[in-house]
Amino acid sequence: MPPSSNTRRTRIAPSLTGPLHLGHARTFLLTWALARHEGWRVLLRLEDLDRSRLRPGMVEETVEILAWLGIDWDEGPLLQSEELGPCHAAMARLAEQRRVFACGLSRREIRAAAAAPHGPGGELRFDPALRPPPGDAWHCGDPRRSYRLRVDPGEVGFHDELAGAQRFDPAAECGDFVVWTREGLPSYQLAVVVDDARSGVSEVVRGEDLLGSTARQILLQRALDLPTPRWWHLPLVADAAGVRLAKRDGALSIAALRAAGASRERILGLVAAWCRWIPQIEPIGLDAFRGLVDAERLQALAVHEADPANRPRLDAATIAALAAT
Ligand code: GLU
Repeated sequence: MPPSSNTRRTRIAPSLTGPLHLGHARTFLLTWALARHEGWRVLLRLEDLDRSRLRPGMVEETVEILAWLGIDWDEGPLLQSEELGPCHAAMARLAEQRRVFACGLSRREIRAAAAAPHGPGGELRFDPALRPPPGDAWHCGDPRRSYRLRVDPGEVGFHDELAGAQRFDPAAECGDFVVWTREGLPSYQLAVVVDDARSGVSEVVRGEDLLGSTARQILLQRALDLPTPRWWHLPLVADAAGVRLAKRDGALSIAALRAAGASRERILGLVAAWCRWIPQIEPIGLDAFRGLVDAERLQALAVHEADPANRPRLDAATIAALAAT
């Protein structure tokens, strides 16, 4: 069913690259509760295009953990890999505009050949000098080559409902970025833009690690003539050393905590206490949690946590307290 234009809609879009951890719990619970408060529809989309990290059972595990947390959705689960037609169509359109080119260079070659191989954030940057001569047609599924979007110099500015005014310079940060991988699949950047548009997503709520990607996604939206949604980037939780939580640390997975005795109410209480909406970590029910979340509160949270010193940290004592009965 095509999305109606007057329905606001968000999505919860976990990547199937590893078990969900407490940082995801916070981001997804806040997204869900905000959507329910605002009356947006919620789509669950499982991002499964990183085939190398996909394990059997991951779809079921991820859906089950989200449901256990109390999250529900109105549409989906939709698997990103199941409908690639719109991504192929988007690539054909970019190729027609000569916005993409085939690239057979490895990361090492890009690093070695570029005058400035790294952007300001230390990211590998594809220098325009490495572009091949024009003429190579778009040919999906060539295992030796990926396809990159030509990125023109210039800043991309946007307003974020939580993080405020943003400016990025994708040409300086990453240069021409991959839109189609050597595996013959759309890259994250292309798939997210195409899937958000075809699902009628009007509100993108996600972690602020994706702020820089947002500028790249806006470039794709412009090139493909797609609407730009409203952006809501939430600050992230850090570990005891102040480093953002990563999926590799399986011990922190929600599934492992649940197996060790943590209840949903304790996890909801932890998230609420991290947001300083309750004075200390204590179990709270789903309805009570939901009643705490609205746009103003998330804006206040983003302002407070703009200072990294105010970010919640997940330390060993917090983890032990979660599992305590
Ligand atoms: N799949 C990403 C994640 O799990 C989120 C992507 C997005 O929201 O655009 O962090």
